[in-house]
Amino acid sequence: MTAEIISGTEIRKTILAEIKADVEEMKAKHGKVPGLVTMLVGKDPASVSYVTLKVKTALSLGFHEIQDDHPEDIPESDLLALIHKYNNDPDIHGILVQLPLPGHIDEQKVINAINPDKDVDVFHPINVGRLMIGGDDARFLPCTPAGIQEMIARSGTRTSGAEVVVVGRSNIVGKPIAMMMAQKGAYANATVTIVHTGTTDLSVHCKRADILIVAAGVPGLVKPEWIKPGATVIDVGTNRVGMNKTTGKAILKGDVDFDAAKEIAGKITPVPGGVGPMTIAMLMKNTLKAAQYALEDIR
Ligand code: NAP
Repeated sequence: MTAEIISGTEIRKTILAEIKADVEEMKAKHGKVPGLVTMLVGKDPASVSYVTLKVKTALSLGFHEIQDDHPEDIPESDLLALIHKYNNDPDIHGILVQLPLPGHIDEQKVINAINPDKDVDVFHPINVGRLMIGGDDARFLPCTPAGIQEMIARSGTRTSGAEVVVVGRSNIVGKPIAMMMAQKGAYANATVTIVHTGTTDLSVHCKRADILIVAAGVPGLVKPEWIKPGATVIDVGTNRVGMNKTTGKAILKGDVDFDAAKEIAGKITPVPGGVGPMTIAMLMKNTLKAAQYALEDIR
């Protein structure tokens, strides 16, 4: 039987519509809207295109949006001073510094300078710690893992008691999603295994996964025969494997052989159109939450 496709493009539409309705309500009740500053240093084409999309999405939701671009050679101290300014600006609820930064800037120092309550990318060590504690302490969830959890939840996949196997242990995907799925609570409460390059036999673990989350960055790493029949497969891998000569756009492939896997899995995310579109939606959700928390603090 062919798997149900979990479309990130469709789920994103629903989430953005929900956020827009909340923004309108906030504006009507409090005369305020969420404020997001997107800071871009240099002109790296991938970063420019990510920032452009973030700005466009924020504006479409009715956010107060500041696009703050700087030349490649901006001194670190100037960038830190700007972050300090935005930390103290009551109309800015989320501060996003597009990574990577040029080599002369210490990225961790920049992340640490952001007020954790405005850290909508959720990279600040305080927010990483809050995520570990879970429950109400975790104000914001990191964007890509939050997108993964939303897809699992909105596809009706049962998580409590499920065997979740996460391939990859990066700080931005593997480790946080593993922690989120292991927490006590809704859309979690799973038994989680993390596998990586030190794992002796990936296939043994993947084969028992009710929910298989793959974030390795290796095209076709997970073989179809490693997938448990009926499992939910979330493919985070976004690998550029070539260029479409007609459109000039990159050809993207996941870490799972989608065509073969969809004949075995119960539910599966495609690449592109799966996890990718969810990340920006979750960034917007965090900015809305930051604004809601700020309003609560004022009242
Ligand atoms: P990363 O920092 O390179 O981490 C990759 C992880 O996968 C590492 O923990 C690595 O293990 C593990 N791994 C790599 N090859 C493996 C293998 N052959 N067997 C077992 N484990 C292996 O990557 P990332 O930032 O997490 O990103 C992973 C993928 O997700 C990439 O394709 C990236 O483009 C994509 N991604 C997509 C989104 C999105 O859609 N919004 C966001 C973020 C990332 P070790 O730790 O042992 O080296």
